[in-house]
Amino acid sequence: MFRCRQIAGFAAVCALALCCGPALAQSPAPTLDAPLATQANPMTITLDETTAPRGFALTHMTIPVKPGPFTLVYPQWIPGEHGPTGPLNDLAVLKISAGTTPIEWSRDQVDMYAFHIVVPPGVTRINADFTVLLNAPPGFLDGAFATSNLMVGNWNRYLLYQQNVDNERYYVKASLILPPGWDYGNALPVQARSGQHIDFKTVTLETLVDSPTDSGRYFKHILMWSGGGTHSYLDMFGDHPEDLDVPADRIAAYKRVTPDAIALYGGRHWDVYHWELALSDLIGGEGIEHHQSSDDRAGDDFMTSDDQQLLGGDLLTHEFSHSWNGKYRRPFDLQQPNFNEPYPEHTELLWQYEGMNQYMGDLIAFRSGIKGKAKDYPEYLASIYNQMATEPGRATTPIIDLTTGAPYYYEARGAYGSLRRNAGDFYTEGELMWLDADTIIRQISHGKKSLDDYTKVFAGGVSSPKVVTYTRADIERYLGQVVPYDWHGFFTKWVYSIAPVPPTDEIARSGYKLVWNDKPNRYDDVGNKLGKSVDAWNDAGFFADEDGKLVDVRENSPAWNAGLGIGMKIVAVNDRAFSPDYWTAVVKASTSTAGPIHFTLEQDGFYSTLDVSYHGGLRYPHLVRIPGTVDMLTDIMRPHAK
Ligand SMILES: [Zn+2]
Repeated sequence: MFRCRQIAGFAAVCALALCCGPALAQSPAPTLDAPLATQANPMTITLDETTAPRGFALTHMTIPVKPGPFTLVYPQWIPGEHGPTGPLNDLAVLKISAGTTPIEWSRDQVDMYAFHIVVPPGVTRINADFTVLLNAPPGFLDGAFATSNLMVGNWNRYLLYQQNVDNERYYVKASLILPPGWDYGNALPVQARSGQHIDFKTVTLETLVDSPTDSGRYFKHILMWSGGGTHSYLDMFGDHPEDLDVPADRIAAYKRVTPDAIALYGGRHWDVYHWELALSDLIGGEGIEHHQSSDDRAGDDFMTSDDQQLLGGDLLTHEFSHSWNGKYRRPFDLQQPNFNEPYPEHTELLWQYEGMNQYMGDLIAFRSGIKGKAKDYPEYLASIYNQMATEPGRATTPIIDLTTGAPYYYEARGAYGSLRRNAGDFYTEGELMWLDADTIIRQISHGKKSLDDYTKVFAGGVSSPKVVTYTRADIERYLGQVVPYDWHGFFTKWVYSIAPVPPTDEIARSGYKLVWNDKPNRYDDVGNKLGKSVDAWNDAGFFADEDGKLVDVRENSPAWNAGLGIGMKIVAVNDRAFSPDYWTAVVKASTSTAGPIHFTLEQDGFYSTLDVSYHGGLRYPHLVRIPGTVDMLTDIMRPHAK
């Protein structure tokens, strides 16, 4: 793996230097140190989860060292999270010792993820014990990881390691201690299990951190697929046993995911695959990809609610697709030798890594029938197209800024998201862009080829987990192998330049046109219902919560022009108390009402009134067929696995 990465990375840097000149020339990578934790003499970690229901976990480590000044680091740049998100603020009660003799430690003044010690003469292994707090407020930097019934375990949270080594040549032997009655799931090979104590086989640090480990009192392990001597499993953990009672037809749809993904990519790069799915309203939603597993988190009723599947049914398919696109194939500058400085990840190529993957995740979810059937995709496309087309921030902020600044955009919260844009845009607009590419390929090849041919050039074949890096030039070359086209100009237009409108031609090219009427878009409607939001985005121009508190106001919309802003709460409309249903009635009646809509607003304890001039009625986006054309969307989204 090390060789492979070095060779691929070298080629990548050369390709960039050719196209972009010295501005992107990189300083030589620092020389790595010899790893002291070897396969024969690994670092050890015992993660004690027995206190998880109380909101903390205990970690006991032994770490190979050498006498003299020595530095340990806590993982900072976490793969799949695309940022310096290691939860340093959750680390507590750090004790380091040589045998029974305590060793003082001090934090580095600049790199706060580094801890300096002086190892006494003759000492070659130290103990490190610490507590990890599990339930900080939500966010990548922290968040809730345990309830009284389950825990989401990411090994990067529970370890220190030698500074400046290659994760692929640094070895760890991990053990897990579970609370009574709990079970666990992960993709790590087991050496031995005795009751609630599990010893895993020695693996590299890269593999350990790549192996999220969920555990809990209520669980189900389901074999999802077998073939070629390999298997995929769904490991579900819930706060309540009934949340695991998934309807049989839904499990059947999920069982189609593995063969559909293998058909899409023409192979696989995992030896076993485990979806680790934590179902908990207390922990909330998240999805982090790994080579042979994924850390999937969703609400209690995610697997039992039709609406939840319609809205978020691409969670498991998106993370699964990342095993090919993101883990096996990875941007050359996102792949680093370890998790710490001076090896920050560079995220500009997330338009491929996440942008294409958003399309792939939805594509597999529709092909396997989880998020809808092929015939439902046009309605979904109308929803996401409209989201991107009506975002005013696109007038100043190109996709390349969103991907380059991803570590900050991921953390961005709060008001006026449509002005600032956010990390979700390179996912959603990425889907439009890759659908555009798919339809271009189908049109040029007269239906003989599609993006399914590109996925095979990009990530086909069969192997165990490994990393092969790529550059923008590689992507354009692979696409050119499928059909000749100005792919460099394509990405320059949609990613690297300000695009006043999102990719649009794919709609007509696939045989559809966008229309507006007063019937809610099904996907938007479910999203608003589950999010308890009032969607006036396409009419007066705002989103509010069900109590009338404004969440976003669309620039230059009637609401914006009248002066509505974040921080205000709509108390009354036309002198009658605000409610979501009443608001809908007001908008519906606006086509036959002469005067403006009269708002009574409350902000910081003060009341005011504003008049919004709107007479357009209810407006919701849909796609309809253009008669006599080829229906590409249905063909793209029909099941492809044999
Ligand atoms: Zn992703």
